Amino acid sequence: MENDYDVIIVGGGVIGTSLLYTLSEFTDINNILLIEKKKIGRGSSWSHSNSQTLHVGDIETNYNTEKIIETRTASHLILKYTKKLRESNFIKPVQKMVLGVGNEEVENIIKRYDEKFISLFPSIKVIKTSEILKVEPNLIKGRDKDEEVIAAYSKDGHMVNFGLLSSSFVNSALKSKKNIKLRLNEEAIDIERKNAHYIVKTEKSTYRGRFVVFAAGGYSLYFAKKLGYGRDLSMLSVAGNFYYSRNVIKGKVYRVQKGGIPFAAVHADVDITNKKITRYGPTVNIVPFLEHTNVMSTYKYIKAMGLDKETVESLINISEDKDIQRIVEKNFIYSIPDLGKYYFLKEEVNKIIPSLKYNDIKFYKQGGGIRPQIIDKKMRRLILGVVDLRGDGIEFSMAPSPGASSCLKEALKYTRSATEYLDKKFYKEKFVKMFCNNEEEYKLLTKKQKH
Ligand SMILES: Cc1cc2nc3c(=O)[nH]c(=O)nc-3n(C[C@H](O)[C@H](O)[C@H](O)COP(=O)(O)OP(=O)(O)OC[C@H]3O[C@@H](n4cnc5c(N)ncnc54)[C@H](O)[C@@H]3O)c2cc1C
Repeated sequence: MENDYDVIIVGGGVIGTSLLYTLSEFTDINNILLIEKKKIGRGSSWSHSNSQTLHVGDIETNYNTEKIIETRTASHLILKYTKKLRESNFIKPVQKMVLGVGNEEVENIIKRYDEKFISLFPSIKVIKTSEILKVEPNLIKGRDKDEEVIAAYSKDGHMVNFGLLSSSFVNSALKSKKNIKLRLNEEAIDIERKNAHYIVKTEKSTYRGRFVVFAAGGYSLYFAKKLGYGRDLSMLSVAGNFYYSRNVIKGKVYRVQKGGIPFAAVHADVDITNKKITRYGPTVNIVPFLEHTNVMSTYKYIKAMGLDKETVESLINISEDKDIQRIVEKNFIYSIPDLGKYYFLKEEVNKIIPSLKYNDIKFYKQGGGIRPQIIDKKMRRLILGVVDLRGDGIEFSMAPSPGASSCLKEALKYTRSATEYLDKKFYKEKFVKMFCNNEEEYKLLTKKQKH
C-alpha cells in the first residue's frame, strides 16, 4: 500500500527531525514518513522562537546535580553530530556566563560554584567586577558602585539555530537510501487505532503507520488524550517573548534562577541570525493557546489541558508557589503596553545592562514561542523539562526548554522504542561509536528520567 509506513512522525521541529535522522542512520527501519503542517523547524525550534542556547547545565542555576549531568550528556550529542559534518551553519561557539546581582545572588553563585561543581565543568570560573569588565564591559558600565556583582563565566558556550539544525537532520536522513517521505504544509487532524496499525488523517490524505511518534509540541498531548493516554497529565502553555537592542554584549548572559523553577530567568543573548542585536527574554506569560499567537488553537489547548478537578487543584497548588506567583505577576505587568516595557527595562534589562534607556529597547515582533509545561496531576505540580508519554506502538513528546538541546537523546529513546516494538534492529555499536566516549555515557543517555 502506497501510504503504508513503519514509522510516522508528526512534527518537523528539532525533536521530530532528530528522530527521522536517528531512525534512518541507526536502524534497519526502511519506510518513514514525517508530516509537518508548516515548514521544517518553524515551530518552537525556529531561531526567532527560542533563546538559541545549547544548554549543558553549567549556567542553569535552577537545575539540580542530576539534571545537570543529564543535560550535559544529552547536549554533547549535538556537538558530536556537528563534528561529523563537514560544514555546519547552525552552531557557533560563544562565551557565556550566569550573572549574580545583589547580595543574595552573589552568595548563591559563590556557594553553587564550588570545587565539586567546577570539577564537572573545568572551563567555568567565578569572576568579579574587574574581570567581568574585561569580558563583558557593558555589564559594568553605568552600574551603581554599591551594587555587588559576580559571574560564573565560561568561554566554551554554543549558540544554535535549532531551525537550521532541524533541516540538517532532514538532509542527513535523506542521504540514507531509505524510503523517507516528507509531507510538508500538511496538518495531521485525526488519529485512530485499527488492529496493529494507526491511521493518521491529514487534510489531504490518510496514512497507515505501525509505530507513530507525535513530536508536535503541545498538540502531542491533545492527540494523546484523543487516544485515551495522558489522563494523569495536564499542561500550561507558557509563552515567551523577547525585546532587543543594538548589540551590546559578546555572548550569553544568564541570570540566577531559583531551583526547581522550570524556566530560565530573563537573560541577554547575541542573536545567531543577526549579530547586530542583543535579545532579552524570554518573558513568562500563561496563554490559552497551543501555538504562539494562534488564537484558533484554544479549543485544542483546553482539550489537551483537560479541565477536571485534578487539573484545577494542580493549578491552585502551582499558583500558591511564591516564586511562581512572583514570576507570573511581574510578567503580567511586562505585557501592559508602554508601562510593561518600562518595567521590563528596569527590572530585567538594566540588571544586566545598566546603561540602556527606554528608547534603546524594542519588542521583538517577529519572535517568541510557546513552552508546553506539563503538569503532573497526581503530584499537583509542574514537571521540569521534556516529558514523553508512551502508549502501545505510539509515543508523544512535549518538549519545553531544554528540549532542543536534548533532542538527540529524545530521538535515541524513541528510536529504541520503535525498533523494540517493530522487532527491528537498532545499531547500538554504530550509535555508541559516533556519540559516546564510552559505554558509561550510553548508560547515562538511556537511564530512565525522573521528573
Ligand atoms: C521562548 C523559548 C525559549 C527557548 N529557549 C531554548 C534554548 O535556548 N535552548 C533549548 O535547548 N531550548 C529552548 N527552548 C525549548 C525549545 O525551543 C523546544 O524544546 C524545542 O524547540 C521543541 O522542539 P519540538 O520539535 O518538540 O517542537 P517544535 O519545534 O515546535 O516542532 C513541533 C512541530 O510540530 C508541528 N505540528 C504541530 N501540530 C501538528 C499537526 N497536527 N500536524 C503536523 N504538524 C504539526 C509544528 O508546526 C511544529 O513544526 C525554548 C522555547 C521557548 C518557547
